[in-house]
Amino acid sequence: MTIAIIGAGLGGLTLARVLHVNGIDAVVYERETSPDARSQGGMLDIHSGQEALREAGLLDQFHAIARGEGQDMRLLKPDGTLLLQEDTPEDAPLLRPEVDRADLRNLLLNSLPENTVRWGHAFESADNGVPHFANGSSARYDLLVGADGANSRVRALLTDARPTHIGQNVVELGIPDIDRTHPDLAAMVGRGNYWVLGDGMSLAAQRNGDGRVRIGLSVYHTGEDWFAAGGIPFDDPAATRAALVDLLAGWDPKFTALIEACDDTIRQWPITTLPVGLTWPPNPAVTLVGDAAHLMPPVGEGANMALLDGAVLGRALAAHDVPTAVREYEREMFDRTGAAARMSADLQDLLMSPDAAERMLAFFQPG
Ligand SMILES: Cc1cc2nc3c(=O)[nH]c(=O)nc-3n(C[C@H](O)[C@H](O)[C@H](O)COP(=O)(O)OP(=O)(O)OC[C@H]3O[C@@H](n4cnc5c(N)ncnc54)[C@H](O)[C@@H]3O)c2cc1C
Repeated sequence: MTIAIIGAGLGGLTLARVLHVNGIDAVVYERETSPDARSQGGMLDIHSGQEALREAGLLDQFHAIARGEGQDMRLLKPDGTLLLQEDTPEDAPLLRPEVDRADLRNLLLNSLPENTVRWGHAFESADNGVPHFANGSSARYDLLVGADGANSRVRALLTDARPTHIGQNVVELGIPDIDRTHPDLAAMVGRGNYWVLGDGMSLAAQRNGDGRVRIGLSVYHTGEDWFAAGGIPFDDPAATRAALVDLLAGWDPKFTALIEACDDTIRQWPITTLPVGLTWPPNPAVTLVGDAAHLMPPVGEGANMALLDGAVLGRALAAHDVPTAVREYEREMFDRTGAAARMSADLQDLLMSPDAAERMLAFFQPG
Protein backbone atom coordinates (compact mmCIF):
# COMPACT_ATOMS: atom_id res chain seq x y z
CA MET A 1 0.00 0.00 0.00
CA THR A 2 1.63 3.27 -1.11
CA ILE A 3 0.12 6.50 0.18
CA ALA A 4 0.87 10.12 -0.76
CA ILE A 5 -0.48 12.83 1.53
CA ILE A 6 -0.54 16.36 0.12
CA GLY A 7 -0.10 18.93 2.90
CA ALA A 8 1.77 18.80 6.23
CA GLY A 9 -0.98 20.49 8.25
CA LEU A 10 -2.84 19.01 11.19
CA GLY A 11 -4.93 16.55 9.16
CA GLY A 12 -2.14 15.25 6.92
CA LEU A 13 0.36 14.84 9.76
CA THR A 14 -2.15 13.05 12.01
CA LEU A 15 -2.88 10.63 9.17
CA ALA A 16 0.85 10.01 8.63
CA ARG A 17 1.36 9.46 12.36
CA VAL A 18 -1.56 7.02 12.78
CA LEU A 19 -0.35 5.09 9.73
CA HIS A 20 3.15 5.02 11.24
CA VAL A 21 1.97 3.62 14.59
CA ASN A 22 0.19 0.94 12.57
CA GLY A 23 3.37 0.07 10.68
CA ILE A 24 2.40 1.73 7.37
CA ASP A 25 4.72 4.23 5.66
CA ALA A 26 3.40 7.29 3.86
CA VAL A 27 5.00 10.26 2.15
CA VAL A 28 3.79 13.78 2.99
CA TYR A 29 4.37 16.40 0.28
CA GLU A 30 4.37 19.97 1.62
CA ARG A 31 4.47 23.16 -0.43
CA GLU A 32 6.38 25.14 2.21
CA THR A 33 10.14 24.80 2.10
CA SER A 34 10.69 24.07 5.83
CA PRO A 35 8.69 23.64 9.07
CA ASP A 36 9.10 27.31 9.99
CA ALA A 37 8.86 28.83 6.52
CA ARG A 38 5.83 30.88 7.60
CA SER A 39 3.98 31.80 10.78
CA GLN A 40 1.71 28.96 11.82
CA GLY A 41 -1.05 31.13 13.29
CA GLY A 42 -2.46 31.40 16.77
CA MET A 43 -4.14 29.22 19.32
CA LEU A 44 -6.49 26.33 18.70
CA ASP A 45 -9.13 25.02 21.04
CA ILE A 46 -8.75 21.22 20.99
CA HIS A 47 -11.68 19.13 22.31
CA SER A 48 -12.93 16.19 20.21
CA GLY A 49 -9.56 16.16 18.43
CA GLN A 50 -7.97 14.82 21.62
CA GLU A 51 -9.41 11.42 20.68
CA ALA A 52 -7.28 11.52 17.50
CA LEU A 53 -4.19 12.44 19.50
CA ARG A 54 -4.88 9.47 21.80
CA GLU A 55 -5.07 7.22 18.73
CA ALA A 56 -1.77 8.73 17.55
CA GLY A 57 -0.18 7.88 20.92
CA LEU A 58 0.46 11.58 21.60
CA LEU A 59 -2.15 12.54 24.20
CA ASP A 60 0.26 12.86 27.15
CA GLN A 61 2.64 14.96 25.06
CA PHE A 62 -0.29 17.10 23.95
CA HIS A 63 -1.32 17.71 27.57
CA ALA A 64 2.25 18.82 28.30
CA ILE A 65 2.00 21.63 25.70
CA ALA A 66 -1.70 22.50 26.16
CA ARG A 67 -2.77 25.53 28.19
CA GLY A 68 -5.69 24.74 30.51
CA GLU A 69 -6.00 28.37 31.58
CA GLY A 70 -6.59 29.22 27.90
CA GLN A 71 -10.16 27.95 28.52
CA ASP A 72 -10.88 31.18 30.48
CA MET A 73 -13.52 33.31 28.84
CA ARG A 74 -14.81 36.86 29.07
CA LEU A 75 -17.81 38.06 27.07
CA LEU A 76 -18.57 41.76 26.78
CA LYS A 77 -20.77 44.23 24.95
CA PRO A 78 -19.32 47.18 23.00
CA ASP A 79 -20.44 49.61 25.75
CA GLY A 80 -18.02 47.80 28.08
CA THR A 81 -20.58 45.71 30.01
CA LEU A 82 -19.09 42.40 31.16
CA LEU A 83 -21.73 39.74 30.51
CA LEU A 84 -19.82 36.62 31.46
CA GLN A 85 -16.49 35.72 33.02
CA GLU A 86 -15.38 32.12 33.43
CA ASP A 87 -12.01 31.42 35.04
CA THR A 88 -10.65 27.89 34.82
CA PRO A 89 -9.85 26.34 38.21
CA GLU A 90 -6.31 24.98 38.64
CA ASP A 91 -7.54 21.36 38.80
CA ALA A 92 -10.12 21.62 35.98
CA PRO A 93 -10.00 18.79 33.44
CA LEU A 94 -8.42 19.65 30.10
CA LEU A 95 -11.70 19.44 28.18
CA ARG A 96 -11.01 22.25 25.68
CA PRO A 97 -7.45 23.44 26.31
CA GLU A 98 -5.80 25.90 23.96
CA VAL A 99 -2.63 24.98 22.14
CA ASP A 100 -0.35 27.00 19.94
CA ARG A 101 -0.91 25.72 16.39
CA ALA A 102 2.86 25.71 15.78
CA ASP A 103 3.46 23.59 18.91
CA LEU A 104 0.81 21.07 17.87
CA ARG A 105 2.20 20.86 14.36
CA ASN A 106 5.72 20.36 15.73
CA LEU A 107 4.48 17.62 18.06
CA LEU A 108 3.08 15.77 15.06
CA LEU A 109 6.10 16.48 12.84
CA ASN A 110 8.56 15.23 15.47
CA SER A 111 6.57 12.02 15.91
CA LEU A 112 7.27 10.94 12.31
CA PRO A 113 10.31 9.15 10.93
CA GLU A 114 12.84 11.44 9.27
CA ASN A 115 12.14 12.19 5.60
CA THR A 116 8.42 11.41 5.89
CA VAL A 117 7.76 15.03 4.93
CA ARG A 118 9.14 16.21 1.58
CA TRP A 119 9.34 19.99 1.93
CA GLY A 120 9.17 22.29 -1.11
CA HIS A 121 6.74 20.06 -3.03
CA ALA A 122 3.72 22.06 -4.21
CA PHE A 123 1.09 19.75 -5.71
CA GLU A 124 -0.15 21.04 -9.05
CA SER A 125 -2.23 18.32 -10.67
CA ALA A 126 -2.67 14.58 -11.08
CA ASP A 127 -3.34 12.46 -14.11
CA ASN A 128 -4.30 8.80 -13.85
CA GLY A 129 -3.51 8.92 -10.15
CA VAL A 130 0.02 10.29 -10.62
CA PRO A 131 0.58 13.56 -8.71
CA HIS A 132 2.73 16.23 -10.31
CA PHE A 133 4.58 18.87 -8.32
CA ALA A 134 5.68 22.37 -9.23
CA ASN A 135 9.33 21.34 -8.94
CA GLY A 136 8.83 18.86 -11.79
CA SER A 137 8.77 15.65 -9.73
CA SER A 138 6.02 13.02 -9.83
CA ALA A 139 5.43 9.47 -8.58
CA ARG A 140 2.65 6.84 -8.62
CA TYR A 141 0.72 5.91 -5.46
CA ASP A 142 -2.20 3.62 -4.58
CA LEU A 143 -3.88 6.45 -2.68
CA LEU A 144 -3.62 10.23 -2.96
CA VAL A 145 -4.91 12.12 0.11
CA GLY A 146 -5.60 15.83 -0.22
CA ALA A 147 -4.75 17.39 3.16
CA ASP A 148 -3.93 20.68 1.47
CA GLY A 149 -6.25 22.96 3.41
CA ALA A 150 -8.89 25.53 2.52
CA ASN A 151 -7.73 26.20 -1.04
CA SER A 152 -7.02 22.57 -1.83
CA ARG A 153 -5.91 21.73 -5.35
CA VAL A 154 -6.52 18.01 -4.82
CA ARG A 155 -10.22 18.73 -4.17
CA ALA A 156 -10.83 19.35 -7.89
CA LEU A 157 -10.16 15.64 -8.55
CA LEU A 158 -13.34 14.80 -6.60
CA THR A 159 -15.77 17.73 -6.75
CA ASP A 160 -16.41 21.08 -8.42
CA ALA A 161 -17.31 22.65 -5.04
CA ARG A 162 -15.28 25.73 -4.13
CA PRO A 163 -15.17 27.82 -0.96
CA THR A 164 -17.40 30.90 -1.07
CA HIS A 165 -17.24 34.08 0.98
CA ILE A 166 -19.70 34.23 3.89
CA GLY A 167 -19.87 37.99 4.41
CA GLN A 168 -17.23 38.14 7.13
CA ASN A 169 -13.81 39.77 6.86
CA VAL A 170 -11.31 39.58 9.70
CA VAL A 171 -8.46 41.98 10.28
CA GLU A 172 -5.90 40.19 12.42
CA LEU A 173 -3.52 42.27 14.56
CA GLY A 174 -1.52 41.66 17.71
CA ILE A 175 0.16 43.12 20.77
CA PRO A 176 3.61 41.58 21.32
CA ASP A 177 4.92 40.77 24.81
CA ILE A 178 1.79 42.29 26.33
CA ASP A 179 2.69 41.67 30.00
CA ARG A 180 5.70 43.96 29.67
CA THR A 181 4.43 46.46 27.09
CA HIS A 182 0.80 46.91 28.25
CA PRO A 183 0.20 45.23 31.64
CA ASP A 184 -3.18 47.00 32.03
CA LEU A 185 -4.45 45.55 28.76
CA ALA A 186 -2.95 42.15 29.65
CA ALA A 187 -5.01 42.09 32.86
CA MET A 188 -8.11 43.16 30.95
CA VAL A 189 -7.81 40.39 28.34
CA GLY A 190 -6.87 37.73 30.91
CA ARG A 191 -5.43 34.28 30.24
CA GLY A 192 -7.82 33.01 27.57
CA ASN A 193 -10.52 34.26 25.23
CA TYR A 194 -11.87 37.81 25.36
CA TRP A 195 -14.87 38.49 23.16
CA VAL A 196 -16.73 41.71 22.46
CA LEU A 197 -19.78 41.08 20.32
CA GLY A 198 -21.49 44.03 18.67
CA ASP A 199 -24.00 44.62 15.92
CA GLY A 200 -22.16 43.97 12.64
CA MET A 201 -18.73 43.72 14.26
CA SER A 202 -16.90 41.69 16.86
CA LEU A 203 -13.51 41.80 18.51
CA ALA A 204 -11.83 38.62 19.72
CA ALA A 205 -8.58 38.85 21.68
CA GLN A 206 -6.64 35.82 22.78
CA ARG A 207 -3.40 35.32 24.63
CA ASN A 208 -0.91 33.14 22.75
CA GLY A 209 1.78 30.96 24.30
CA ASP A 210 4.54 33.44 23.36
CA GLY A 211 3.01 36.36 25.28
CA ARG A 212 1.48 37.94 22.18
CA VAL A 213 -2.19 38.77 22.25
CA ARG A 214 -3.81 38.17 18.89
CA ILE A 215 -6.77 40.31 18.00
CA GLY A 216 -9.30 39.51 15.31
CA LEU A 217 -11.60 42.34 14.35
CA SER A 218 -14.48 40.87 12.35
CA VAL A 219 -16.62 42.99 10.09
CA TYR A 220 -19.83 41.21 9.11
CA HIS A 221 -22.19 41.64 6.17
CA THR A 222 -19.36 42.81 3.93
CA GLY A 223 -18.32 41.44 0.56
CA GLU A 224 -15.22 39.75 -0.74
CA ASP A 225 -13.92 43.09 -1.99
CA TRP A 226 -14.03 44.77 1.44
CA PHE A 227 -10.25 44.71 1.96
CA ALA A 228 -9.68 46.39 -1.40
CA ALA A 229 -12.72 48.65 -1.49
CA GLY A 230 -13.58 49.29 2.19
CA GLY A 231 -11.51 52.45 2.42
CA ILE A 232 -8.91 51.14 4.90
CA PRO A 233 -5.32 51.84 3.80
CA PHE A 234 -3.88 48.40 4.53
CA ASP A 235 -0.49 49.36 3.09
CA ASP A 236 0.05 51.75 6.04
CA PRO A 237 -0.18 50.00 9.46
CA ALA A 238 -0.54 53.20 11.54
CA ALA A 239 -3.28 54.53 9.24
CA THR A 240 -4.96 51.11 9.33
CA ARG A 241 -5.05 51.15 13.14
CA ALA A 242 -6.50 54.67 13.07
CA ALA A 243 -9.16 53.65 10.53
CA LEU A 244 -10.09 50.61 12.64
CA VAL A 245 -10.45 52.81 15.72
CA ASP A 246 -12.81 55.02 13.68
CA LEU A 247 -14.75 51.91 12.67
CA LEU A 248 -15.29 51.19 16.37
CA ALA A 249 -16.91 54.59 16.98
CA GLY A 250 -19.18 54.32 20.04
CA TRP A 251 -17.28 51.37 21.51
CA ASP A 252 -15.78 51.71 24.98
CA PRO A 253 -12.28 53.29 24.81
CA LYS A 254 -10.73 50.21 26.47
CA PHE A 255 -11.44 48.28 23.27
CA THR A 256 -9.97 50.88 20.95
CA ALA A 257 -6.92 50.97 23.27
CA LEU A 258 -6.34 47.34 22.29
CA ILE A 259 -6.18 48.30 18.61
CA GLU A 260 -3.91 51.28 19.29
CA ALA A 261 -1.44 49.01 21.14
CA CYS A 262 -1.01 46.62 18.19
CA ASP A 263 2.21 46.37 16.20
CA ASP A 264 2.57 46.57 12.42
CA THR A 265 1.83 42.90 11.65
CA ILE A 266 -1.64 43.08 10.14
CA ARG A 267 -3.24 40.25 8.25
CA GLN A 268 -6.32 40.31 6.04
CA TRP A 269 -8.49 37.25 6.33
CA PRO A 270 -11.65 36.94 4.20
CA ILE A 271 -13.77 34.08 5.56
CA THR A 272 -14.90 31.42 3.11
CA THR A 273 -16.55 28.05 3.61
CA LEU A 274 -17.48 24.98 1.61
CA PRO A 275 -21.17 23.99 1.35
CA VAL A 276 -22.47 22.36 4.54
CA GLY A 277 -22.76 18.60 4.10
CA LEU A 278 -20.54 18.43 0.98
CA THR A 279 -20.04 14.90 -0.34
CA TRP A 280 -18.67 13.46 -3.59
CA PRO A 281 -18.94 10.16 -5.47
CA PRO A 282 -16.43 7.58 -4.17
CA ASN A 283 -13.06 7.38 -5.90
CA PRO A 284 -10.94 4.42 -4.71
CA ALA A 285 -7.66 6.26 -5.28
CA VAL A 286 -8.28 9.81 -3.98
CA THR A 287 -9.78 11.28 -0.82
CA LEU A 288 -9.62 14.45 1.28
CA VAL A 289 -9.08 15.27 4.95
CA GLY A 290 -9.48 18.48 6.95
CA ASP A 291 -10.34 21.88 5.48
CA ALA A 292 -9.89 20.49 1.97
CA ALA A 293 -12.98 18.35 2.61
CA HIS A 294 -15.14 20.59 4.82
CA LEU A 295 -13.98 24.18 5.31
CA MET A 296 -16.15 25.68 8.09
CA PRO A 297 -16.47 29.12 9.70
CA PRO A 298 -13.69 29.59 12.30
CA VAL A 299 -15.75 28.85 15.40
CA GLY A 300 -13.66 26.07 16.89
CA GLU A 301 -14.31 22.86 14.93
CA GLY A 302 -11.92 22.89 11.93
CA ALA A 303 -8.74 21.70 13.60
CA ASN A 304 -10.58 19.12 15.66
CA MET A 305 -12.24 17.68 12.57
CA ALA A 306 -8.91 17.64 10.68
CA LEU A 307 -7.25 15.67 13.51
CA LEU A 308 -10.16 13.21 13.66
CA ASP A 309 -10.19 12.77 9.86
CA GLY A 310 -6.51 11.83 9.91
CA ALA A 311 -7.03 9.31 12.71
CA VAL A 312 -10.17 7.74 11.21
CA LEU A 313 -8.62 7.36 7.75
CA GLY A 314 -5.38 6.00 9.23
CA ARG A 315 -7.29 3.42 11.28
CA ALA A 316 -9.37 2.38 8.24
CA LEU A 317 -6.25 1.95 6.07
CA ALA A 318 -4.66 -0.19 8.79
CA ALA A 319 -7.68 -2.50 8.73
CA HIS A 320 -8.74 -2.72 5.07
CA ASP A 321 -7.60 -2.53 1.45
CA VAL A 322 -7.49 1.01 0.04
CA PRO A 323 -10.93 1.18 -1.69
CA THR A 324 -12.73 -0.28 1.35
CA ALA A 325 -10.83 2.01 3.71
CA VAL A 326 -11.70 5.11 1.68
CA ARG A 327 -15.40 4.11 1.58
CA GLU A 328 -15.49 3.45 5.32
CA TYR A 329 -13.63 6.66 6.16
CA GLU A 330 -15.80 8.85 3.94
CA ARG A 331 -19.03 7.39 5.34
CA GLU A 332 -17.99 8.30 8.88
CA MET A 333 -16.37 11.62 7.91
CA PHE A 334 -19.37 12.90 5.91
CA ASP A 335 -21.71 12.23 8.88
CA ARG A 336 -19.44 13.64 11.56
CA THR A 337 -18.25 16.73 9.73
CA GLY A 338 -21.71 17.46 8.27
CA ALA A 339 -23.02 17.72 11.85
CA ALA A 340 -20.05 19.89 12.89
CA ALA A 341 -20.54 22.15 9.87
CA ARG A 342 -24.25 22.61 10.67
CA MET A 343 -23.41 23.50 14.27
CA SER A 344 -20.68 25.90 13.11
CA ALA A 345 -23.06 27.57 10.64
CA ASP A 346 -25.63 28.09 13.45
CA LEU A 347 -22.96 29.65 15.66
CA GLN A 348 -21.87 31.82 12.74
CA ASP A 349 -25.49 33.04 12.28
CA LEU A 350 -25.55 33.93 15.95
CA LEU A 351 -22.30 35.92 15.69
CA MET A 352 -23.63 37.82 12.69
CA SER A 353 -26.95 38.71 14.34
CA PRO A 354 -27.66 42.20 15.79
CA ASP A 355 -28.08 40.81 19.34
CA ALA A 356 -25.03 38.54 19.17
CA ALA A 357 -23.81 39.26 22.72
CA GLU A 358 -27.13 38.38 24.39
CA ARG A 359 -27.58 35.30 22.21
CA MET A 360 -24.04 34.14 22.98
CA LEU A 361 -24.71 34.61 26.70
CA ALA A 362 -27.83 32.45 26.35
CA PHE A 363 -25.75 29.87 24.44
CA PHE A 364 -23.33 29.58 27.38
CA GLN A 365 -25.99 29.91 30.08
CA PRO A 366 -29.09 28.20 28.66
CA GLY A 367 -32.29 28.61 30.69
C1 LIG B 1 -6.96 32.04 13.06
C2 LIG B 1 -7.57 30.67 13.06
C3 LIG B 1 -8.06 30.18 14.25
C4 LIG B 1 -8.59 28.92 14.27
N1 LIG B 1 -9.04 28.42 15.47
C5 LIG B 1 -9.51 27.15 15.54
C6 LIG B 1 -9.89 26.54 16.79
O1 LIG B 1 -9.82 27.16 17.87
N2 LIG B 1 -10.33 25.26 16.78
C7 LIG B 1 -10.41 24.55 15.61
O2 LIG B 1 -10.81 23.37 15.67
N3 LIG B 1 -10.04 25.08 14.41
C8 LIG B 1 -9.57 26.36 14.35
N4 LIG B 1 -9.18 26.89 13.14
C9 LIG B 1 -9.24 26.07 11.92
C10 LIG B 1 -8.03 25.19 11.80
O3 LIG B 1 -6.80 25.89 11.89
C11 LIG B 1 -8.08 24.46 10.48
O4 LIG B 1 -9.38 23.94 10.32
C12 LIG B 1 -7.07 23.32 10.45
O5 LIG B 1 -5.76 23.84 10.54
C13 LIG B 1 -7.22 22.51 9.18
O6 LIG B 1 -6.17 21.57 9.08
P1 LIG B 1 -5.78 20.99 7.67
O7 LIG B 1 -4.71 19.98 7.94
O8 LIG B 1 -6.97 20.59 6.91
O9 LIG B 1 -5.20 22.23 6.88
P2 LIG B 1 -3.99 23.18 7.21
O10 LIG B 1 -3.64 23.11 8.66
O11 LIG B 1 -4.33 24.48 6.60
O12 LIG B 1 -2.77 22.53 6.41
C14 LIG B 1 -2.73 22.46 5.00
C15 LIG B 1 -1.28 22.27 4.58
O13 LIG B 1 -1.25 22.02 3.19
C16 LIG B 1 -0.21 22.78 2.59
N5 LIG B 1 -0.54 22.99 1.18
C17 LIG B 1 -1.50 23.79 0.67
N6 LIG B 1 -1.52 23.69 -0.67
C18 LIG B 1 -0.57 22.80 -1.02
C19 LIG B 1 -0.13 22.26 -2.25
N7 LIG B 1 -0.67 22.65 -3.43
N8 LIG B 1 0.88 21.34 -2.25
C20 LIG B 1 1.45 20.93 -1.07
N9 LIG B 1 1.07 21.42 0.13
C21 LIG B 1 0.06 22.33 0.16
C22 LIG B 1 -0.19 24.07 3.41
O14 LIG B 1 1.04 24.75 3.28
C23 LIG B 1 -0.43 23.52 4.82
O15 LIG B 1 0.77 23.17 5.47
C24 LIG B 1 -8.66 28.15 13.08
C25 LIG B 1 -8.18 28.67 11.88
C26 LIG B 1 -7.63 29.90 11.87
C27 LIG B 1 -7.04 30.41 10.55
